[in-house]
Amino acid sequence: MKNSAVVNYAPEKGSVEIRELEKPIIGKNDVLLHVENVGVCGSDLHQWTSDHSWPVNYPVVLGHEFGGNIVELGKDVTGWKEGDAVVSETAAIINEMSPLSRQGFYNLDPDRKGFGYGVNGAMTKYVRVPARCLHLIPKNLGFEEACLTEPCSVAYNAVVMNSKIKPGDRVLVLGPGTIGILCAAMAKLCGANVAIVGLEKDATRMEIAKKYGCTTIYNDATSWAEEQDGLGVDCVIDAAGVSETLGLALKWVRPNGHITKVGWGPKPFNASLDPLVQKNVSLKGSFSHNWPIWEKVLSLLASGQLDVKPIIGGVWELEDWHTAFEAMHSGKVVKSVLKPK
Ligand SMILES: [Zn+2]
Repeated sequence: MKNSAVVNYAPEKGSVEIRELEKPIIGKNDVLLHVENVGVCGSDLHQWTSDHSWPVNYPVVLGHEFGGNIVELGKDVTGWKEGDAVVSETAAIINEMSPLSRQGFYNLDPDRKGFGYGVNGAMTKYVRVPARCLHLIPKNLGFEEACLTEPCSVAYNAVVMNSKIKPGDRVLVLGPGTIGILCAAMAKLCGANVAIVGLEKDATRMEIAKKYGCTTIYNDATSWAEEQDGLGVDCVIDAAGVSETLGLALKWVRPNGHITKVGWGPKPFNASLDPLVQKNVSLKGSFSHNWPIWEKVLSLLASGQLDVKPIIGGVWELEDWHTAFEAMHSGKVVKSVLKPK
């Protein structure tokens, strides 16, 4: 049976096309998933426009934000059955014996390879998934929302695990992309007073950020940062896809405050880190997520405490991947979702 797939076939800009692939053959610890929905991620766009900073195993099927039904089980898989509705984590290949994996931090293991760049991802009808990546979708949660468990988990790791926000904190989020908006939503759940900073070209996304109860600020957040006592905000979550915004974070954070950098880009920072020292600021990177985070996020989505519907800008068929990518790339929508036929 043929399998239409959105394939990133070379490092050159624009090297993405629909190709017909064979249905994947699963190993003894894998399941075959019939993909119901797959989210388009900023990193899929980065591979398409070729401004990514990670090695890609070309040609590769894009897509790592997905959910579907199990249609086939490897012979050693236990605890799952055909028809189970699941979402999958992104760490498709890990070294289970590495010290980091044994601590549960397999997301940080140097040997980790993810769907959509290291191994074939989910912008296709059938994807092969190791059973250890699966989480059951709660009954009341649809696939269109469940497929966004992944970016929500990125935000949970950045805000809850790596920032330790307290109720009453003033938190500034830089960048109103999917991760920025979800970080703002997560900081609200932590009880913070939240503002999100964007540019004029982000106007559509900023309106959506408002639906999560945060203040929106264009360009300069100095007055909001200093509003309470003139000293700056307790925490900055930098979700912009460049290094240089760290300079703004260092400017707006208060002495003894905290910065978490979750957005990244390959260009160097190119500025002094003196404010980090002078202000006694803590700076933390945040990367990916692991099993306990996924379970917490699914619980938040199922209870309705976290609602991803406002960020979904549309659902397109796989064949219309270009329209879906372009809608996100131009900033017309926050998140595009694909549905294989
Ligand atoms: Zn993603």
